[in-house]
Amino acid sequence: MTDVFDFADDLGPSKVIHVYEPSICLKAILVVDNVAIGPSIGGLRMAPDVSTLECFRLARAMTLKNAAAGIRHGGGKSVVYGDPRMPKTEKERLVRALASSLRNVHEYIFGPDMGTDEECMAWVKDEIGRAVGLPREIGGIPLDEIGATGFGISHVVDVALRYCGFPLEGARVVIQGFGAVGSHAARFLTGSGAVLVGVSDSRGSMYNARGLDVRDLSALKKAGRSVTDYADGLRQDREAVIDMECDIWIPAARPDVIHEDNVSRLRTKLVIEGANIPLTVAAEKYLHKKGILCVPDFIANAGGVICAAMEYHGSTQAAALETIGEKLRENTELVLRDAENRGILPREAAINVAVSRIKKAMEIRRWSLFSSAPGFC
Ligand code: NAD
Repeated sequence: MTDVFDFADDLGPSKVIHVYEPSICLKAILVVDNVAIGPSIGGLRMAPDVSTLECFRLARAMTLKNAAAGIRHGGGKSVVYGDPRMPKTEKERLVRALASSLRNVHEYIFGPDMGTDEECMAWVKDEIGRAVGLPREIGGIPLDEIGATGFGISHVVDVALRYCGFPLEGARVVIQGFGAVGSHAARFLTGSGAVLVGVSDSRGSMYNARGLDVRDLSALKKAGRSVTDYADGLRQDREAVIDMECDIWIPAARPDVIHEDNVSRLRTKLVIEGANIPLTVAAEKYLHKKGILCVPDFIANAGGVICAAMEYHGSTQAAALETIGEKLRENTELVLRDAENRGILPREAAINVAVSRIKKAMEIRRWSLFSSAPGFC
């Protein structure tokens, strides 16, 4: 069995907590990675196949994302085992029980992620008073409803295209996953002239070279159906989305969907990582060698967490959206320029930006006094 400490380094993780309550089949994990900049913010993911390692890797992505985004929060993540489509009463019981058991872990603030939403965050807030991504009725900025992350992605695409040499107008977009991130990214990009030619969800994929109607697809999803129920296009299995020829390919579903063994199937010019850790590092290196630009997850999808942090600190929706646009444009430009000048992967450039901010914050914390002791760790 893989031990999460095999992956630990000088940034973290600072806490790994397993939660088990057999009477209600609650199995969950919290990883608080690094809190040098402030209490961690990260989503609660519900899926049947989560793991401690996945949770740690996602928590690390949050550490880097929050630092790069310049918000006053560290990185953490929680995962709960279960089918997110379970009956609502069961889901509420699990989420409330998990929140309650983590009541005193003040270094972690819950947010929504795959399989959880604003309503789940309202249950957490009601239990322990510590959650972001809340419904509007209780003072939240519903980040998934307004598409904060998809909005950010549209700004990232706009800046990245300066490094690609083709315009957004008429660019063919393929999106894997048509949930909160994928559907809104599609909405904003097609609203600016791009053409959505392919899309997938957990049940399959749909392709139409003439374009898919984002409103129709969103209506299908809202009705609990699949993108494969779309009337006019080629219906295939969900893997087929990897092979669809396009100009911009956006993973917005699960981790590690593109790896060494399938990355050569991508036929695109630009990859924007909407999901967290959707490509392995080996896959990113392959793309770099082939001259295909890839904007890493913690730069590209920071819109949601910026919105969440601003909600937590009492900001308005309008101010949050303005900040998302500003910060994501600035960071994308900073990272892509540095990567181009130094011939390094965009991920390396992005890590340099984030880690230098975290390390500066770590230097002023009490434990740093002891970090030079011989044999430390
Ligand atoms: P969601 O649950 O709203 O949507 C996920 C979508 O992916 C659904 O359409 C689902 O059917 C589809 N899907 C699941 N497994 C799939 C598979 N194997 N192949 C194709 N499609 C599949 O989730 P979301 O909030 O859109 O998050 C998607 C990803 O983006 C996650 O990695 C999440 O961590 C990341 N992310 C989300 C936000 C946010 O604001 N919601 C912010 C940053 C990062």
